Amino acid sequence: MIAIAKEVLKRSFEHLRDCGDDRRECVVLWAGPLTREGVVDEVIHPLHTASAVGYDIDGPYVSRLWRELAGRGQTVRAQVHTHPGPAYHSSRDDSCALVHTPGYLSLVIPNFAKGAVGLDGCFLAVRGDDGAWESIDPRSTIVIEQ
Ligand SMILES: [Zn+2]
Repeated sequence: MIAIAKEVLKRSFEHLRDCGDDRRECVVLWAGPLTREGVVDEVIHPLHTASAVGYDIDGPYVSRLWRELAGRGQTVRAQVHTHPGPAYHSSRDDSCALVHTPGYLSLVIPNFAKGAVGLDGCFLAVRGDDGAWESIDPRSTIVIEQ
């Protein structure tokens, strides 16, 4: 379960829309303080390439990001990316996840995030203890705080 401020969710949608420009996927990371379990208070738009059907986060950028976040006491709790059409978790999404620890969340937003800011039509997967991804209800897992 994670809690995210509406403002952070809104900023996430803005990144996804602006960068995706209605023709490319985009990805953002949700981070929060290590000491506050489940809290997301930061959206990170990582250096990445993208096409209409996928994205790749820059490897060296990720190494720098982990060090930088650790220095600030922040951790990544979820990754969020767009699909051109309906939201689901592809096998590529399964294998390209940035974090492979149980409980890590991967949210997919449909239609290049052009819809209303919220969880309508979104698909959420969670990494299980056995390493497999499992679909869960976004509304009961992501709490949007005003
Ligand atoms: Zn982007």
